[in-house]
Amino acid sequence: MQYISTRGAAPVLEFEATMRAGLARDGGLYVPDHFPPLTQVEIASLAGLSYEDQAAAIMRPFIGDSFTDDAFRALIGRAYAAFSHPARAPLKQLAANHFLLELFHGPTLAFKDFAMQLIGQLFEASLARSGGRVTIVGATSGDTGSAAIEAFRGVANVDVFILYPHGRVSEVQRRQMTTPDDSNVHALAIDGDFDTCQALVKDMFNDLAFRDAVGLAGVNSINWARVLAQVVYFFSAAVSLGAPHRPVSFTVPTGNFGDIFAGYVARAMGLPIERLVIATNHNDILHRALSSGAYLPDGVKPSISPSMDIQVSSNFERALFDAHGRDGRAVAQLMAELKGGGGFHISQGALEFLREAFVSGRASEDETRATIARIFQETGEVLCPHTAVGVHVAEGFVSATPMITLATAHPAKFPDAVEAAIGARPGLPAHMADLFERPERVARLPNDLGAVQAHIRAAGAA
Ligand SMILES: *Cc1c(COP(=O)(O)O)cnc(C)c1O
Repeated sequence: MQYISTRGAAPVLEFEATMRAGLARDGGLYVPDHFPPLTQVEIASLAGLSYEDQAAAIMRPFIGDSFTDDAFRALIGRAYAAFSHPARAPLKQLAANHFLLELFHGPTLAFKDFAMQLIGQLFEASLARSGGRVTIVGATSGDTGSAAIEAFRGVANVDVFILYPHGRVSEVQRRQMTTPDDSNVHALAIDGDFDTCQALVKDMFNDLAFRDAVGLAGVNSINWARVLAQVVYFFSAAVSLGAPHRPVSFTVPTGNFGDIFAGYVARAMGLPIERLVIATNHNDILHRALSSGAYLPDGVKPSISPSMDIQVSSNFERALFDAHGRDGRAVAQLMAELKGGGGFHISQGALEFLREAFVSGRASEDETRATIARIFQETGEVLCPHTAVGVHVAEGFVSATPMITLATAHPAKFPDAVEAAIGARPGLPAHMADLFERPERVARLPNDLGAVQAHIRAAGAA
């Protein structure tokens, strides 16, 4: 399996180098040169396997010679050992034909742990083999940062810098990033929003001299290995509801389009997914783009589902690449228009391609709160605000086909929003009970590329 850039002008790489690179050197995102199909028999044979064995079978064709079967299976085992639920990604029925896929049983209580815990293992194994040192830089709207810090804290030959928007993450999210005391992890509070942080990270990658000097590596969902790890739970959930013999649909609370793109990959590999429903909060650029064909950023509005407060949805580029017949130059043109400030228009053909796989909806802040309250009254289930966005949108699409909504975070990460909706504060799990007593360590920095780079150079190589 080889990996190519969505902008068509970067070197073709194997899996391990793709993972180590993060962003392609032409500014594009790496995608596999094809999606390896699983036969109906192969999909059916996943039923009854452990999550880890399913993961090994599903990801194996993407890994090539980068890791042996045994080594890869061992890394998967270590990645998910700290999850608190034996099923890793359990499915829970919410209503008739509507299910929740609980993705918050990892160490930092959001779905980001599925990919990040595995990437931590893969990087550690890769660095042990190659030697050298890497600097991981990532932007977060709240959950990626803590998941990355948790996955890489104390790992030899890795420094981790996480940029988050100052004042725009929940207190639990912030403390998860600022309280680990390992000297190789660094939280940076940036004056700006998530898109500011993400743009700074992309600019650091595109500064090739800086990139090479510090050994930059990226673990945002621009990193293919993250998307790949997330493909697994689309299979595990669908199979447990009867796939491949019975199709299912998924609703995915969406910000940077990484999670739902993993669903698209599962579908491209042959998993019978009828619909992939994009659910957005009032930062609804993806819903607007799919409805009108115009991808027009209009500024991030803070919401009670902050991990989805995004207007420049990086992984959408991967879908656009396929929608344009894998024409890297066409994608590069659209991305140049976006960077130029305006946004872009999706051609009719590309729009039809996207609408064949995706539908979309949005939830307002009031609808999100009302959904948390109503689901609690009806079922006793406490949803995090992101999951509530998904459930609200999914309810408009429930049909004879089972609908699976991804429960992307634990409600305890967003106690203020949950308390406002149901009048009670969800408690933190035992391993995080002292989070509010631990000392914080954070550097506050302006939205200035030079200042952030200088900080990283000075604080790195801990
Ligand atoms: C990251 C995140 C999302 C959005 O996922 P994307 O892959 O960026 O679309 C949704 N909910 C929660 C809780 C998250 O942490």
